[in-house]
Amino acid sequence: MEGIRVIRGMRDILPAQSIWWRWMEGRLAEVCERFGYGELRTPLLEQTALFSRSIGEQTDIVEKEMYTFEDRDGSMLTLRPEGTASAVRAYIEHNMARAEPVSRWYYMGPMFRHERPQKGRYRQFSQMGAELLGVAGPAADVELIELMVESVAALGLTQTTLELNSLGCTACRPAYRDGLVTYLKQHDERLCEDCKRRMQQNPLRVLDCKQEACNKVAEGAPRMIDALCDDCAQHFFAVRGGLDGLKIPYHINHRMVRGLDYYGRTTFELLAEGLGSQNAVAAGGRYDGLVETLGGPKVPAVGFAAGLDRILLKLTESAEAPSQAPLIFIVSRGEAAWTKALQLMQGMRRAGLRVMSDVRQGSFKAQMKRADKDGARWVLLLAEDELKQGVVTVKDMQAGADSQDKQQQIAEDQLVDWLKKKTEEVEK
Ligand code: ATP
Ligand code: MG
Repeated sequence: MEGIRVIRGMRDILPAQSIWWRWMEGRLAEVCERFGYGELRTPLLEQTALFSRSIGEQTDIVEKEMYTFEDRDGSMLTLRPEGTASAVRAYIEHNMARAEPVSRWYYMGPMFRHERPQKGRYRQFSQMGAELLGVAGPAADVELIELMVESVAALGLTQTTLELNSLGCTACRPAYRDGLVTYLKQHDERLCEDCKRRMQQNPLRVLDCKQEACNKVAEGAPRMIDALCDDCAQHFFAVRGGLDGLKIPYHINHRMVRGLDYYGRTTFELLAEGLGSQNAVAAGGRYDGLVETLGGPKVPAVGFAAGLDRILLKLTESAEAPSQAPLIFIVSRGEAAWTKALQLMQGMRRAGLRVMSDVRQGSFKAQMKRADKDGARWVLLLAEDELKQGVVTVKDMQAGADSQDKQQQIAEDQLVDWLKKKTEEVEK
């Protein structure tokens, strides 16, 4: 085992952090269920073709970020880099277009991309996402954007900026693309090497290149929303109207094109400050062609995914850790008291209380120290006297020195009820 360490870009989540994760996942599930979305759980592994066909052969994800390997039977498998492709595969595979044409799904879990690890960018990271399949109209886009904003806000992240764009459709994008290539060719000596290549294969990606020089070129580029066909323009207008009605502020970012090929029409990103170039905390868009591309019927859809690691980075900067139930700690002296302590703890745990003891069975003093270190709210003392009288001495570790709650004796048979009442008071 010597020298074996966690894989680069991947992390262990220790208990102090997992409190945050469970709380976050719980809140998100609550919000999604409130919107009528049901949870979808798909495997972490899929056939490689699912991703290369949907995300697009010439995207960063498929070209250089996927964890792909050969299975024992020679077939190619990939650890999922995102959730939408799997959701669409499941929608097709379970005949949802017939069973439940309008499907509302959310999912949560790890995704894998072989990127350069840095703050807010990992090789295994977690996303929560939602997909609304089966609706072409703008109301679906608005619902999804609202769900995205509400989800992130429910976690306490309200200082965010929503950016919006339209990428047009198969009717209007080709002409725009041609116009863009013409423009880019006039400036190609200023573009980075990557963008010179993108210009041929995926010219829209030049618009969101992070290089300073490319940025300058992109600033003067023609805008997609000026080139939308009537249907796309109307759709975009209606989405904006819906957001205005909900008082969800946004601004239009002409250069937001998203890194996945399946998007068309509405695309959006939610940005938070203070995360450097990892400032996108959630993103999504409409993908009307994807179900068909993957061999299903013609079904329009829209979805988003939120990056939970980045959201957590922001939250832990300021917010306090989510609270746990107050801790009860039993300190005992002697064999008989220890057995009694075991029985009391068994009863308390079955009653839903959070209670522990120092299993090292050291001195009274050592056990007290441990109780303090673990942040116990109440310490229950159990020694010869208590056993004889059928009581437990309860110390409230937070009561003031002269408070009468500081230390009192509670009859053994009333202990559970007393502690439950106290716990409820604390949790209120
Ligand atoms: P970026 O531009 O930051 O690379 P992206 O466009 O690749 O993001 P999406 O594929 O849209 O990201 O995924 C949605 C969200 O998932 C992102 O907004 C981000 O919060 C999160 N995310 C994506 N890649 C990573 C990663 N490697 N580590 C942590 N979070 C990530
Ligand atoms: Mg990326």
